[in-house]
Amino acid sequence: MRYGIFSDIHSNLEAYEAALEAMRGDGLGAYICGGDIVGYGADPSRCIELTKGFTDKVICGNHDWAAVGRLDMAYFNPRAKNAVEWTAKRLSDEERRYLTDLKTLYEGVDFTVAHGSLDRPEEFRYILDIDSALRNFQMARKGLLFVGHTHSPVIFRKQGDDITYSRMPEVRLAEDSSYIVNVGSVGQPRDGDPRASYAVYDDRERSVEIKRVDYDIKKAQRKILKAGLPPLLAERLSAGR
Ligand code: ZN
Repeated sequence: MRYGIFSDIHSNLEAYEAALEAMRGDGLGAYICGGDIVGYGADPSRCIELTKGFTDKVICGNHDWAAVGRLDMAYFNPRAKNAVEWTAKRLSDEERRYLTDLKTLYEGVDFTVAHGSLDRPEEFRYILDIDSALRNFQMARKGLLFVGHTHSPVIFRKQGDDITYSRMPEVRLAEDSSYIVNVGSVGQPRDGDPRASYAVYDDRERSVEIKRVDYDIKKAQRKILKAGLPPLLAERLSAGR
């Protein structure tokens, strides 16, 4: 089967619609959302609605839980906090319940999906370097872990005691190795490429591909400014930073 795995939509409806459209054309059998449906952008409710209609395989991100008061915002920067508070005021009771009830992990047949890390997933830690990757490789019960959270796609590989990483968009999974794949962000990429990002995992071919999709960035930016959200949240979309 071919899976579409995507994360960090962040209320960016324009990016989300473009990514969903692209995934529909990819001939995929299942879709998994790695969390952070809301936060930063101007369309939280529409993004929740689209997610519900698209897949029931959804886990929570830190912004989802912060928006419903399930996570302390002590570690949020002022802009992120501002956007979470803006979002919280706009959610219906039903949307709030939906986000509150999301689980922290998704278990596939031969892979796991976490928003940030397997290491206390409810604390939303980051896999940013070899050390944090190693901790996750040690905790993983399957040889393949998908994450988001950093908004920057990267693939870590563990072969014996060796851990390496690659930013190549395609990898063939070797039998003797384990992998951590960061699928990037649909709605707020930060790797310098402003296009929406998602991953396709093919369990027969044993391959993972990170795909990028153009979307109407200007429209998403206009909505963020019009909503009165911090202007930097709009500006960064065109830089992909
Ligand atoms: Zn995020």
